[in-house]
Amino acid sequence: MWSLKSLRIVCSPRALTLLHPNWSMASRQSVYKAAVTFSAQFMLSTGFSTKDTWHNNTNFKTLGKEEKLISCTNPVSLPRNYCTGQVKLNCWNCKQRLDKTPVFFCMSCKVIQPPEEGASYFKIMDCDYTFTLDTQKLQKRYLQLQRSLHPDNFSQRSVKEQEYSEGQSAVVNKAYKTLLKPLSRGVYMLEMQGICIEEGTDSGADSKFLMELMEINEALDEAQTPEEANKIGHDTKGKLADLTKEIDAALLKGELQAAKALLAQMKYYANIEEKVKEKLSEFM
Ligand SMILES: [Zn+2]
Repeated sequence: MWSLKSLRIVCSPRALTLLHPNWSMASRQSVYKAAVTFSAQFMLSTGFSTKDTWHNNTNFKTLGKEEKLISCTNPVSLPRNYCTGQVKLNCWNCKQRLDKTPVFFCMSCKVIQPPEEGASYFKIMDCDYTFTLDTQKLQKRYLQLQRSLHPDNFSQRSVKEQEYSEGQSAVVNKAYKTLLKPLSRGVYMLEMQGICIEEGTDSGADSKFLMELMEINEALDEAQTPEEANKIGHDTKGKLADLTKEIDAALLKGELQAAKALLAQMKYYANIEEKVKEKLSEFM
């Protein structure tokens, strides 16, 4: 059983903010707007610009009464495998044709190129388009790119090249962060296909699931020892591992709505995982 106190905690604006720290309506809308504008301009299909869209500073509380879990499907469906290589670009410096995109340096004159707006994070990071991507390969690619693109390397170059390196560096950071964690990776994959998960009501979660969650939250609040908190952490990790498998299977089968519902659950468990860390730090 869970008490009124725990109900209040879980349903309070603060708790909702904790549950969805990076998911704001405003950011989703801006992402969508950018996507539509971009698609219209270039006839490419992408959900993302180079702007920071996952980890913005929008205060969730400013969203007023929208403190509920809502999900929405964008009216425009973005094709599954968008190919940024459809548009042939030329090097801004030597005008040589760039044969593949996204491209960081011109093969001919070796000069840094501007970030390509809307390039798929999977392509930027040279990763397979899959939920169970190889994070070791991702990390390796990230370090390799940051080594060559880092603004420090361009301090003696033109202002334009410095700007491009800053831009490329930022995009690579964003792509890396988004793809590293299963939760943001899954949400990104759904957004690429025109499905977004918004802040809002718990329409995606049934009452049984929410009750289970409240019980875990309450148990965590009442944990008296690190062992008790660790036990909850361990169980949560197990849940997250199960969800990862289920989400992968749903995405492979193209069951996007099922994947969306599972990702919503993953969000809650990821939040509990964070709270376990906080709790453990209290025992230090
Ligand atoms: Zn060139």
